[in-house]
Amino acid sequence: MSDTITRKLMLYFPKCECEKPIVYHLVKDYDLVVNVFRAKVTPEEEGYLVLDVTGTEHNIEQAMAFVRTFNVTINLTGKGVTREDTRCTHCGFCVPYCPSNALRIDDTATREVVFDESKCIECLACIRVCPFGACASAF
Ligand code: SF4
Ligand code: SF4
Repeated sequence: MSDTITRKLMLYFPKCECEKPIVYHLVKDYDLVVNVFRAKVTPEEEGYLVLDVTGTEHNIEQAMAFVRTFNVTINLTGKGVTREDTRCTHCGFCVPYCPSNALRIDDTATREVVFDESKCIECLACIRVCPFGACASAF
């Protein structure tokens, strides 16, 4: 059996594509395990979806080819939420709001707030609470 991998995807759906059951097909047709972190429809009825997919590399590639046929933009960078280090004052205000420990206080002497992108589940809490606008979303 082929090895499975997990890939983080961010999908942007133009208005006309929001109703399409794309996640259903990822599971049924490409045998992927899908873990949706965030789904949002803007007032303009565009859709954003942040998810992990787990499956064989081949199936994930095939699934992405399928998704692209719907005029859906795929962000494969894994960089949904970013932190601008020059803006961060390391005040620590965001840390208790981060549910995944992606933002945490470094236990070295510096006590700086470190951001581990790989743990971020795109909940956007830090963007809402950061008083200095240091965190931002690619969406
Ligand atoms: S709240 Fe903003 S400025 Fe404060 S530690 Fe978090 S990201 Fe940095
Ligand atoms: S988006 Fe959520 S999970 Fe990611 S760093 Fe901000 S608070 Fe943590």
